[in-house]
Parts: sequence; structure tokens; C-alpha cells
Amino acid sequence: MQIILLGKPGAGKGTQAERLAQEAQVAHIATGDMFRAAVRDGTELGKLAQSYMERGALVPDDVTIGLMRERLAQEDAGKGFVLDGFPRNEPQAQALQGLLQELGRPIQAAVELEVPDEEILRRITGRRVCPQCGATYHVEFQPPKVPGICDRCGHELTQREDEKEETVRKRLEVYRQHATELARFYEARGVYHRLSGLGSEEEVLVRIRHLLQTLGVWAQ
Ligand code: ADP
Ligand code: ADP
Ligand code: ZN
Repeated sequence: MQIILLGKPGAGKGTQAERLAQEAQVAHIATGDMFRAAVRDGTELGKLAQSYMERGALVPDDVTIGLMRERLAQEDAGKGFVLDGFPRNEPQAQALQGLLQELGRPIQAAVELEVPDEEILRRITGRRVCPQCGATYHVEFQPPKVPGICDRCGHELTQREDEKEETVRKRLEVYRQHATELARFYEARGVYHRLSGLGSEEEVLVRIRHLLQTLGVWAQ
């Protein structure tokens, strides 16, 4: 299974990609998570990425595409993947086509999760992440068992630097600049689909699963 989840920041891509990848036994590949890990580790990549991420801007394409090339070459990606946060614009989508052609694994579906801005702001400002294992929570919709503590690994939860309202608005603007070109790109290849991202996480998962089964992308 090779699919892409598209949508605004906070649309639920990460939440759904993680569950889908687990159920389908494929890799969950999230460029945002990879950049955040690099920032945490203090690598050269991390230093470069940080200056863009703080502003809600995109990390330059050559860097992001290089990162993706390495990631797709890893063994676990050979079984398939759910991409989350990549591609973000047409040059990245073009580059991805090239990388996948080399691997003989075309994109079977690019699914956009649609969520209105007001709901996005509500979701993002309540989002909490575990800096150790990457698990995500929401203070209102998906609270951890003990407030402020990761269920999975016990680490203290944090809020992302780029989740202040002003930066979120900037990220929404960047998203809008490229949303149409991405939709057209995948529409032209017959794999673009749009679903409502509203409702509970479980409801959205059922919607995506149903679509993928209808398309014959997912056998389960
Ligand atoms: P979102 O919640 O918007 O899906 P991500 O975790 O995917 O956020 O991305 C966080 C930040 O990481 C982005 O604002 C951007 O700076 C950077 N980033 C992630 N993926 C990409 C990409 N494909 N191209 C360029 N920058 C990216
Ligand atoms: P993205 O990867 O698209 O930026 P996330 O999956 O990280 O989005 O979700 C953003 C925030 O919204 C998280 O705090 C998450 O727990 C919450 N969230 C995700 N899906 C839903 C949903 N269906 N209903 C309410 N909140 C959700
Ligand atoms: Zn954790």
C-alpha cells in the first residue's frame, strides 16, 4: 500500500497515518516528525530545518527531497507506506514520482482530509506531543490517562513551538498556497480523493479505510 494523506496542519494526518500504517503493517513516514527529531538531536539538518519551522515556512525542497530519498530507501518502506506531510508542493510531488518509479511503487491514493479553519485552531492549540516517543494527544479530545504524561513511555508531554496561534495561521496560509496545485497534480493522475476530516478519530479512520477498500488499495 502506497498512499498519501493531505490536509491542513491539524487536519488529523498524523493521527490517521499512524493508525493506518499500524493496521496495514506499512511504514508511517512523516517529514515533520523527521525534522523535529533532527532538531532534537542537534544535527546540521536540524539546525537548518529549525529556522524555517519556527516561522511556519517550508524547509527548502532540495533538503526535504533528499531526506525523503534516504527514507524511502530504508528497508521498512519496501512493504509500503503512508506519507504524512510530504509532498507539500508540486516540485516535491514531481520528485516523489521519480523516486517511486525507481522503486516500482506508484502512489495508489492521495487522500485529502477536509477540516474548516476554526476546528483546526481548536485542535492545534490543544495538541500535546511526547518529545521522547512522538505520541500525540489533545487536552480535550484525546487526553492522556495522567494529565501531562505520555501513556506510552511516561515522559512529560510538551507543546510544539510552532503551535502558537500566529504561527498556525502562517502555516495555514502556506498550506493554501499549494493546496490547489497538489490536488490538480494527483487529480491528473487519477488518484486524488477528498474526505471530511470531521467527527471522532475513529469515524475518520472508518471513512478512510472504507475508501481504500473501495479502491482496492487495502485488502483487509
Ligand atoms: P502539520 O501539523 O502542518 O502537518 P508537520 O509536522 O507536517 O506539520 O510539519 C511541521 C513543519 O515541518 C512545517 O511547518 C515545515 O516547516 C516542516 N515540514 C514538514 N514537512 C515538510 C515538507 N514536506 N516540506 C517542507 N517543509 C516541511
Ligand atoms: P496533522 O498531522 O494533520 O497536523 P494531527 O493528527 O497531529 O494533525 O492532529 C492535530 C490535533 O488534533 C492533535 O492534537 C490530535 O489529537 C487532534 N485530532 C486529530 N484527529 C481529530 C479528530 N478527528 N477530532 C478531534 N481532534 C482530533
Ligand atoms: Zn512517549
